[in-house]
Amino acid sequence: MDDIYCCRICGEAAPPIEGFCEEIIGYRLIRDPWADTPSFLDCNLHFSCLEESGNRDRFHSEFLRFVQAGHEEIEGPDGPLPPLTRMGLGMFPVFSGDECDIFQSRVSDRWAVVRRTGPWLGLGLSQLRVIGAGGVPVSPSDVTRYRLPADLGDQVGDYDLPGLLGALGVTHRYSDPARLARVEYRFVDYYPPKRLLDYVAAVPLDLPEEARGFLAAHAQTYKPVTFDEEDV
Ligand SMILES: [Zn+2]
Repeated sequence: MDDIYCCRICGEAAPPIEGFCEEIIGYRLIRDPWADTPSFLDCNLHFSCLEESGNRDRFHSEFLRFVQAGHEEIEGPDGPLPPLTRMGLGMFPVFSGDECDIFQSRVSDRWAVVRRTGPWLGLGLSQLRVIGAGGVPVSPSDVTRYRLPADLGDQVGDYDLPGLLGALGVTHRYSDPARLARVEYRFVDYYPPKRLLDYVAAVPLDLPEEARGFLAAHAQTYKPVTFDEEDV
């Protein structure tokens, strides 16, 4: 299945929920280790599928390179010429542990925690402060837009998160029920002609203990590079 809203690995529905499933947008030019011919990822990935995939190490090394690279020329799908210009995240490593690596932005107050098994999550200044105070950071409450692979009818607005995943037949891809139960899911809107579902999922972020320890200490000495509204 080539639906970009489905998981690249299993082909099933994959609504993004931070810590469980992420979207990789095509313009990022991250090479697709699951493809038979050279191509770039433009899809969603269930983290449970990524962790079980035999290609996870190839993805992991490509992803780490992307996180750290600035502008760089890379080989296109049709060979070395003409090269494509990829814009990486330009982060630099600040921590390397048994379970994960942590990278920090040079230009904004952003961090990426990348597990050695593949999954990743992003953190901002407000989340770093929560970790520094000993709390559990929660993902931003931004609206996510997801195109359903099939129309779920009018009741789509009545589903909670387990109900939505169950209706899509993908509960097993979001497999830790206790962790999933802590996600605050809120339906926002549904546009049936294009099957576009808008929702908010505020997720308590599950960090490896070694990452939590490093970031808690880091928060005590970190000097923000940008001002956010909390500072005004
Ligand atoms: Zn999957």
